[in-house]
Amino acid sequence: MKAHDGMYIGGAWRPAAGTDTITVLSPADEQPVGEVPAGTVEDVDAAVRAAREAFPAWAATPPVERGALIGALRDQLVARKDEIAETVTAELGSPLPFSQMVHAGVPILVAGSYAELAATYAFEEKIGNSTVYMEPVGVVGAITPWNYPLHQIVNKVAPALAAGCTVVLKPAEDTPLTAQLFAEAAHEAGIPAGVFNLVTGLGPVAGQALAEHEGVDLVSFTGSTAVGKQIGATAGAAVKRVALELGGKSANVILPSADLTKAVKAGVANVMSNSGQTCSAWTRMLVDSARYDEAVALAAEAAAKYGSRIGPVVNAKQQARVRGYIDKGVEEGARVVAGGSEAPREQGYFVQPTVFADVTPQMTIAQEEIFGPVVSIIRYEDEDEALRIANGTVYGLAGAVWAADDAEAIAFARRMDTGQVDINGGSFNPLAPFGGYKQSGVGRELGPHGLTEYLQTKSLQF
Ligand code: NAD
Repeated sequence: MKAHDGMYIGGAWRPAAGTDTITVLSPADEQPVGEVPAGTVEDVDAAVRAAREAFPAWAATPPVERGALIGALRDQLVARKDEIAETVTAELGSPLPFSQMVHAGVPILVAGSYAELAATYAFEEKIGNSTVYMEPVGVVGAITPWNYPLHQIVNKVAPALAAGCTVVLKPAEDTPLTAQLFAEAAHEAGIPAGVFNLVTGLGPVAGQALAEHEGVDLVSFTGSTAVGKQIGATAGAAVKRVALELGGKSANVILPSADLTKAVKAGVANVMSNSGQTCSAWTRMLVDSARYDEAVALAAEAAAKYGSRIGPVVNAKQQARVRGYIDKGVEEGARVVAGGSEAPREQGYFVQPTVFADVTPQMTIAQEEIFGPVVSIIRYEDEDEALRIANGTVYGLAGAVWAADDAEAIAFARRMDTGQVDINGGSFNPLAPFGGYKQSGVGRELGPHGLTEYLQTKSLQF
């Protein structure tokens, strides 16, 4: 895999301030696929300075021109889509067809949506005797996770640039090669020097330095709730804007009138895709008592069919963590009906597609985010109980409701404490706001709502 040995700062690849490096391993065979520099406080400082310097001119660039440059960036991602898919497969381990369709395909859609939004969004409005201007917040520190390496980057960088903000990105240490490819695409697209900057490095070093830097006006973080709380506290102390996209434990609610086979199969597929490493995955399947046994049999059959088709999880630590949760589920009395904690292969960080039956709402596997290919099937007696279970975690990121007709599903979804719900298998919409209720986060990404995160209002009265 191609890897740069420097940081992308101020429009060029520059030598890193320190000599430490991060070795990127393939999760499929545990072999090195590349090496990148581990950024220091000095690298972060240089990148923030470059972003500050570039900010006034970029903020003053007409939105239509910013949109055209984001469109050029989208075209560069299209031109590199095979290389992006191969790179994501190398460092994340996802099967190539999934990398092509989702890891390369979705960011192209999202970048395209912001090229258009920059050009069409009303950055100015009249309210009574006032004119309200929507102005960019300033320099953005973007910190992203490894699970959808390019999607998480584009979700932040595209709206930030559309708003007129400049950006310093600190990507996850497991997937920095995809971030370097993105920097190349931004460079080739002609994004002006300093508008986008990349510092690779470790979370507690480069990530923390970025979150704490006084030259950063807004921190946009996607990752674990534990680190998110810390970043929120740091930003709060400095009275800095902050957006947090955190963990999830979403419910897939199958109401008694629903097509059970369709809902169960879609639910299992949802969790198994990306080896369960999706923050919005429907990891809790809620089924009424009368059809519980049937649902368990269908889910076990669906999971067994995945067999070795799913990729590994990202690293040894995640593999141990997921296997630990499977053991914990057994210890607490849940019943494994597919998969189990035994590693299916000697090499690579693989975990078996696993389904648990007889899961009760308070078990650890029903409360905590596992971030692996594990589905928990929970029984409910009536709709009120289903709602209590669905809302009974600290999270509220996503979910699904299945019923004979949309109206019934909508009525249930409106009572759920969660930011996004798919009704009867509704498909992904790159313009719909995505983000959490409760401890799943603060702020929204995607579409016009994602753009407003990077804007602040100024009202002029006449
Ligand atoms: P993580 O919190 O360990 O790391 C995320 C990013 O934060 C990485 O770039 C990491 O280097 C950095 N980081 C770590 N410690 C830091 C610190 N002290 N200061 C600043 N930055 C630091 O999370 P992860 O394991 O990479 O990702 C998995 C988590 O992300 C899961 O909990 C998942 O639910 C969540 N996630 C949420 C969403 C969402 O949109 N809500 C999307 C994807 C993933």
